[in-house]
Amino acid sequence: MPSLMDYLPAIFGILDTEPEISPTFLDLNFQEGDDLGSFKYVQTQNHIVLKCQCGRQTQPYLIKKTLFDRVYPTQGKFACAICLLEQRNAKTIKDHLKLVLAQNKDKIKKNAHLVLDFSSDKIYDPVKQQMVRIKRLVYELYYNVELDKNQKVLVTCGSKNCVSPEHLLVAASPATKVTPEMRNDIKTWASNKMSNTTIQNLVSQKYQRSISLRTIINVKKSFTVCANLAI
Ligand SMILES: [Zn+2]
Ligand SMILES: [Zn+2]
Repeated sequence: MPSLMDYLPAIFGILDTEPEISPTFLDLNFQEGDDLGSFKYVQTQNHIVLKCQCGRQTQPYLIKKTLFDRVYPTQGKFACAICLLEQRNAKTIKDHLKLVLAQNKDKIKKNAHLVLDFSSDKIYDPVKQQMVRIKRLVYELYYNVELDKNQKVLVTCGSKNCVSPEHLLVAASPATKVTPEMRNDIKTWASNKMSNTTIQNLVSQKYQRSISLRTIINVKKSFTVCANLAI
C-alpha cells in the first residue's frame, strides 16, 4: 500500500492527519468510473479510490470522501507518482508523447478513438527543429519505428482528431510522376513565363497526364535550387 503521507500531499495537495483508511484492496470497476486527470476513480462508502490509467500503480490511491473537494494537482496534473516522475524527466517531445501514450494505454483499442489534448495537430520538435505531425510521432513511438520521408501516416477511422495508433496506417507516397522529358518541358514553358495553370494544361495535352499545381511549383523550385547551386 503506498503511504498516505507520500501521495496525498505530493499529488493531491492534501495533508490528512488521520491515516484511517481501508487497508484492503477492493476489486472495483474502474472502467465505469469518472475521470480525474489520468485517474479513473470510483467511490466506496467512505473513500474515493483512484487508479492511474497507465496501469502502473501497484495499489490504487485512496482519499477520504470528506477531503475530495479539496484536491488540486500540485504537480500541474493528476497522475500517479510514476507518471509524474516521468513527466518531470520528459525532455523531448517524444518523451512527452511517450508518456501520454502510456497514460492512455487503456484507450488504445480498435473500437475506440483516441483524442489527445493538444491544441494543434503539429508540435515543434526541437531535435529535428521543425514542426512534426503528432500522428506521425504517435505511430513511430507506438510501433517503435522510424518513418522515412516518403512514408505518410494516414488515419483510417475518418475522425479528424483521432490519433489512436490502432487507426493509423502508413502509406508510401506515390513516386513522382514527373519524367525527365516533362521536367525539360516545364522548364522551357516556365522560362517563357507561362502560368502554372497553362503548364498544367500543356502537360496534360502532351503527355495525357494530370499533375497537380503543387507538383509544378515543386519542379520549378528545384530549378531555382539547381541554378543557385550552380552559381
Ligand atoms: Zn500513472
Ligand atoms: Zn479513430
